[in-house]
Parts: sequence; structure tokens; C-alpha cells
Amino acid sequence: MSIAEKIKEIKATLPAIIKLVAVSKTKPVDLLMEAYSVGQRAFGENKVQELVSKYEALPKDIEWHFIGHLQSNKIKYIIPFVHLIHGVDSFKLLKAIDKEAEQVSRIVHCLLQFHIAEEETKFGLSMDETTAMLNSTEFKSLKHVKISGVMGMATYTDDTNLVRNEFAHLKTIFDRLKSEYFPLEAEFKEISMGMSGDYLIAVQEGSTMVRIGSTIFGERIYTLRT
Ligand SMILES: *Cc1c(COP(=O)(O)O)cnc(C)c1O
Repeated sequence: MSIAEKIKEIKATLPAIIKLVAVSKTKPVDLLMEAYSVGQRAFGENKVQELVSKYEALPKDIEWHFIGHLQSNKIKYIIPFVHLIHGVDSFKLLKAIDKEAEQVSRIVHCLLQFHIAEEETKFGLSMDETTAMLNSTEFKSLKHVKISGVMGMATYTDDTNLVRNEFAHLKTIFDRLKSEYFPLEAEFKEISMGMSGDYLIAVQEGSTMVRIGSTIFGERIYTLRT
């Protein structure tokens, strides 16, 4: 099946209000253009250098989503154009993003990443860290970041009950933050959850944004980085 057909097929299974982020990491720009040619505008990347070179090569009406683990020293390269940073997993990172965004007079939208999976390796905030951050005067002084919602990754497993519970947990976190900290902020509305293997479950549990790579572009082949 072609990339165009894959996108059409996925969109047919998604309620219209759910945003499809096409995760194009490791894929060459001609494949992104195939998706673009059938109207896909939101793309997700997880490496700063790769994101910047694709941004430079491709049409400027693309929305670039950064979905990886962002290192402080690389923030400045994506800040001028990034649409949404999904993986804010520390207050320190949020402050660093704010500082760089101020340099270019932008307000950068960010999602707070929560650790919802059983695996130890996945990055994310805890609820305690988050409430301490949101209650702090320092957080309230940040003028160049906007928290648009939450993001999380479920455990990579065939156990669909576990995956469902983890997504439901993220929805609970979202609801709590919404009512306690962002009740009047219409922009706090996103729940970024669901990937190729689990997005249908994520949608049932309240996802507003799915990040789908291999189902659209095929399996990724990783080469050693030199
Ligand atoms: C790679 C990646 C995806 C897409 O994964 P697929 O299984 O290929 O759909 C989604 N989210 C994040 C954070 C990723 O790193």
C-alpha cells in the first residue's frame, strides 16, 4: 500500500477532531513529500539535526512536532520554527525553552510528558514534580512557553489491558491538571498518546493527537550514527 493510501486508511479510523502526527524520523524527504501531497501537514521528528534539515528542505506550511528527548544545548536550533514540543519532562527543560523562545520573541507550545509505562527507560514527569512546578512563582513568570496538554507512551506489550490502563491514567492526569491549574485556558487541551501499535486504544481512552510512524512509512531501519 502507498503512503497516501496508508494515511487515508488511518484517517478513516480516526474521529475528525483527532490530529494525526506523521512520525517521519529516519525517513527521507521524498517520502515526507508523498504524505504532504495528500494533505498531511503535521510531521513528528525526534532528532534535532534531522528536524532542522528537513525543515530547511521542505515546504514552509508544515507543522513540525518535536517528539524526542530534547537536550538543553540543542533547543535553540528548533525554537524559531517548531510547532509543538511533546516531551517536556523537567522544569529545567521548560525554563530553558522559555529562555530560547524569548530570544526570538516566540511563545512555544509544549506538552508535559508523563511516565505512564512500566518500563524504566521512558522519560517523564511525576505528579509531585508537576504540581510543585505549576505552583511555583517561577513557573508563573515564564512568558514564552504555553502548556498545551500532556503526552505519554504506553508500555510496549501485547497486553492491551495494561496499555488501556496506562492511557486511562494519562487521561486522569490531564483531567486533574485541567481542573486544578488550567480551567480557564482553552489552549490546555491536548492529550498526545497512541502510536502505530496502540493508537486505536489511545483514541478510545481520550487521545486528541496520535503519533504514527511505521504504519505510514514502513519499518524504520536504523544505521549507526557516526
Ligand atoms: C517513533 C515514535 C513514534 C512513532 O512510532 P511508530 O510505532 O512507528 O508509530 C511515536 N512517538 C514517539 C515519541 C516516537 O519516538
